[in-house]
Order: sequence, then structure tokens, then C-alpha cells
Amino acid sequence: MSKGVISKDEDYSQWFNDLVIKSDMAEYSPVRGCMIIKPYGYSIWEKIQAVLDGMFKDTGHSNAYFPLLIPKSFFSKEASHVDGFAKECAVVTHYRLKNDGNGNIIVDEDAKLEEELIIRPTSETIIWNTYKGWIQSYRDLPILVNQWANVMRWEMRTRLFLRTSEFLWQEGHTAHATSEEAIAETEQMLNVYADFAENWMALPVVKGRKTANERFAGALDTYCIEALMQDGKALQAGTSHFLGQNFAKAFDVKFTTRDNKQDFVWATSWGVSTRLIGALIMAHSDDAGLVLPPKLAPIQVVVVPIYKHQEELDNITAYVDGLKKELKTKGISVKFDNRDTHRPGAKFAEYELKGVPLRVAIGSRDMTNGTVELARRDTKTKETVNQEGLAQHIEGLLEEIQNNIYKKAFDFRAENTTEVDTYDEFKRMLDEQPGFLSAHWDGTPETEQKIKEETKATIRCIPLDNKQEEGKCILTGAPSKQRVLFARAY
Ligand code: AMP
Repeated sequence: MSKGVISKDEDYSQWFNDLVIKSDMAEYSPVRGCMIIKPYGYSIWEKIQAVLDGMFKDTGHSNAYFPLLIPKSFFSKEASHVDGFAKECAVVTHYRLKNDGNGNIIVDEDAKLEEELIIRPTSETIIWNTYKGWIQSYRDLPILVNQWANVMRWEMRTRLFLRTSEFLWQEGHTAHATSEEAIAETEQMLNVYADFAENWMALPVVKGRKTANERFAGALDTYCIEALMQDGKALQAGTSHFLGQNFAKAFDVKFTTRDNKQDFVWATSWGVSTRLIGALIMAHSDDAGLVLPPKLAPIQVVVVPIYKHQEELDNITAYVDGLKKELKTKGISVKFDNRDTHRPGAKFAEYELKGVPLRVAIGSRDMTNGTVELARRDTKTKETVNQEGLAQHIEGLLEEIQNNIYKKAFDFRAENTTEVDTYDEFKRMLDEQPGFLSAHWDGTPETEQKIKEETKATIRCIPLDNKQEEGKCILTGAPSKQRVLFARAY
């Protein structure tokens, strides 16, 4: 890749890292595991937010905001929740610094908090403590709330976007009168995530359930969407949890039912994070840089003028002004890069690196001929087309690019999803052609754990569209009624 980015076949991990940094998406911060999301990366997050927020509102949800800091005691109320998150919690113990007299800034021991505070790793506890005051009767239900926020999980092995210690996300927290309603909500939000992944991110996903081992701490059931990256590793791209009555019991949230009885409230929570940006990069990009699906690309079309004299530029500019207006009315974002500090070749390389889906180049000869040169980022093909009807043509092409990127990812996943029936084959495939492996499993956590220890592959999910079939567990040979999806994962 230009500008010294390593090829993805040579070192996928390094390729990803270089790409994030060179394309100006993000950089490391002085605090290990935390990152600075730069304007180009953040504008993708803003697009993701806008679309998802619309989808949440269309399904009846409203946004609210809960505090960053949670009293430590809240975490001990739901036993499995605290077990799951304890190792990743950052704790606030003091509220003041002081000068020690020698010019050193130190923690003021006189300013020790009576109760330590946890920086939220997720907000179930503070939210269910709050819902106690909001819910008395079935008339107060359902509560359909989402929040956009940052959370902190003290991750040991971090990677830009995919796994950071602080990350941005949305977390939905809903409260319901019945178990059926809560399960329906959990499934609905899984479908929203899958719809977003496939139709906006151009990312095919498998919808499924997590095994007990991989479930969210405090959930009765965790649904997820799983995607396959270009190195054959899986990535969990979103989760939706059915929490049963666990948090209502922990925070004593009861309500009067329609038939005048007392019951605990049923809960769900669901979230996606800035990890989606990592998924977007890993799934589609190539050795020349980012490949972004047009629907989420911050700039969809870039126009580069090729000229020697000012009057040539003026001539091109007059034409581009009209084109920009036309594209704008079609809702297409366009950038006219008329900087005179960079040569066209350097601009081409920059937009290739940044994954702008379509590049329009216009020179004087084009102006005479009434043409432009159009270059697609996804296929790296070029064509000369007429200026007349260009906006229409661009609109069609952007749609074609979106579909093509999805198809490429879909075909890749199909080629790298294999049914295996023996443990030897399973291990061989993991080494020779990593991807999703569909295999029988005896349903026990012990077998799942052993396979993980021996191969580093985990059960990504039990797909929702699984067919029932008789088989034998690849490890133990015990009978099994369905295949599950294994992979090494991020
Ligand atoms: P969870 O609350 O664990 O179900 O996670 C909710 C969402 O956040 C999922 O979509 C995860 O993929 C994502 N996520 C979890 N941990 C991290 C992390 N350290 N960095 C970025 N995203 C994360």
C-alpha cells in the first residue's frame, strides 16, 4: 500500500492498525487502551448514530441519559453481573488532588470518598435502581429507553475500535410486564442490528444465541450478530440480552399487574459500539486503503480538477458547482478538492486511502468533450462518461457499489463457512482455511471450554435459523441435535 501500509496477506493485524492510523480515523492516546477518534473516523460514527437512532425511534424508543459514575454497592446487588464485570472496573476513590509542597501533585487523602464509585462498564445497575422509582403499575410499562454514552472496561488486550478500554456505544434498557413481551423486544432489536449491518454496513451477519459460557453477565439469554472478517476471524458485532427478572429482583422493582397482583418487572438490554467501525474496516478494505460502503461514507463523491491555468480551473469550477447542486438534491455528499497545494496524483492516493466510493476527475479536454473520468474505489475501475446525466449515473453507481461490497463480503463468508464432522478436520480447517466452522457439539460447557483451550476457537453462536439434524459432537462423540457455529474470534 502507498504510504507504507503493509499488505493484509502479510500481516493482517498490522495492516488494520496502519490503515486506521494512515486513513486518519483514529490514534492511540496516552492512556493505554484508549483512543482518540479523529474527525474522519468520528464522522462515520455520526452516520452510524443517525441511522440507528432513527431505527430505535421508529421502534418506539426514546433517548435519556444516566450518570457516568455508579455507587460500588450497586454492583454487588446482582451476583453474576458483578462477577462478570469486576475484573474490568475502574474505580474512583478520591475527589481532590493537592500540591505536596515540593511541587508534586498528589492525591489528597483527606478527600477520600465514603463510597467508592465505579465508572460505568454498562448501566443496568444505575438504570434499574432508577426504574424502581418510575414503575409502580402495569400502566407505567413498557419503558423503552436508549442512551448514547461512553463506557469503560479495563480491557487487557486492546485493539483500535475493536476492543478499547473506553468506547462509545448505545445501550437500550427496556422494562416490560411480561416475559413474552421482553423476549419479543430482545428479538426485535437483534433484527434492527442485523438490518443495519446488512443494509447500511454491507456486512452479512449470522443471527444467533450465545451459549451459557458466552452470555452477558446477568442475562438469561444473549442474542448476537456475528460477522466474518477477511482473515477468517469472527467478530461479535452486536448483542441483545433478555435479562429476565434478574435486575428487577436485585433492585426490588415490582409492579401491580392487570389482575392486581405484584410481580417483578421483565428486562432487556442491547448495545452496539464503535467496534462497528472496526468491523467496517476489517470486512471491506484492501491493500490500497479503506473501502467504505457508500451509505456510511462521510464523503461519497470527490471531484478532482486537473488544470494548469486559473481559467481552466474557473471553467471546471463553474461546471462542478452545478453538479454539486444536483448531487446535493439527491442527498449525495460531494467534496470538490480544488486545493492548489496538492497534485492530482496525491489527491487520488489520499481518497483511495480514505475509501471515498467514487472519484470524478475533470481536465480541460473533458470540458471540451463534455465528459469526466469516473473511478470506483471498490473495483478500482475507471470509465469516461458524459457530463450529461452524470448526477443520475452517480446515484446509480453508488447503489451498485453498496450492493457489490455486500455481495463480496457475502461470497467471502459463503466460501469460508464449512460444515465439519470430525475434530481432526475441525483443527485442520482452523489452520488451513480459517472461517466459520459449523459442527456438532454435545451441549456441555466442559466440551466448549476444552475445544477453546485446544484450538482457540469458540462457539460464536447457535444460529437462529438452524435446522435440527442428528449428529455426533466433534470432541466427545455424544449425540447432538444441531450444529453450532465455531470460529476463532476477535
Ligand atoms: P455487551 O454489553 O458486552 O453485550 O457489549 C455490547 C456491545 O459493545 C457489543 O456489541 C460489543 O461488541 C461491544 N463491546 C464490548 N466490549 C467492547 C470493547 N472493549 N470495545 C468496543 N466495543 C465493545
